[in-house]
Amino acid sequence: MTFTQVTTTCPYCSTGCSLNLMVQDGRVIGTAPYYRSPVNEGRICPKGTYCHQFIHNSDRLKRPLIRKGDIFYEADWDAALDLISRRFSEYQPDEMAVLSSARCSNEDNYLAMKFARGVLKTRHIDHCARICHSATMVGLYLAFGCSAMTNSIPDIGKSDCIFCLGSNTLEQHPLIGRQIIRARTRGARLIYADPRHTPTAIQSDLFIQFYSGSDVL
Ligand code: SF4
Repeated sequence: MTFTQVTTTCPYCSTGCSLNLMVQDGRVIGTAPYYRSPVNEGRICPKGTYCHQFIHNSDRLKRPLIRKGDIFYEADWDAALDLISRRFSEYQPDEMAVLSSARCSNEDNYLAMKFARGVLKTRHIDHCARICHSATMVGLYLAFGCSAMTNSIPDIGKSDCIFCLGSNTLEQHPLIGRQIIRARTRGARLIYADPRHTPTAIQSDLFIQFYSGSDVL
């Protein structure tokens, strides 16, 4: 019997917690803490704890499926890629668009951009985070000169006052929520603005509830 641990990143949210996958005889059987990451310090939430389960799940597709009418047939990769490339060649570059996802890694998104611009020759490449975050990017740029996070995650735990707008951090990003709790334990104040009375609202010193849809007007 062989047993190894492979260090990787949890794929389930943008916190980016590190963890070890436990691999027995080439099969991933569980997760274990990875203590050297400053993001999560060896801890993971329930989503991360079970993030390995889809790897060998019987529902997972292992071969491409090609649809004929309403039926999907198993195919080999050469046949699937030939079909995809043939269908793409029926369109002009400006008739095609690529939409990528926040669930993809930076590397996946980079490849999607290269595929759109370099292979399909289209300028239409977009990402779901642009829809969610274009308003916050403008705000961050005006306030801090940079449209991205300007602090590390551990810095949140050292803050004296945290303003949280439209994010149920304690449930959606629990390991960042842990830093909020750490700051609260030190005496920091949490100001929370959201349409819903969430678990993050319960932890706040000041909860500002506004009508849904009015936060980005
Ligand atoms: S907070 Fe949970 S879901 Fe998000 S990266 Fe960490 S372990 Fe994964």
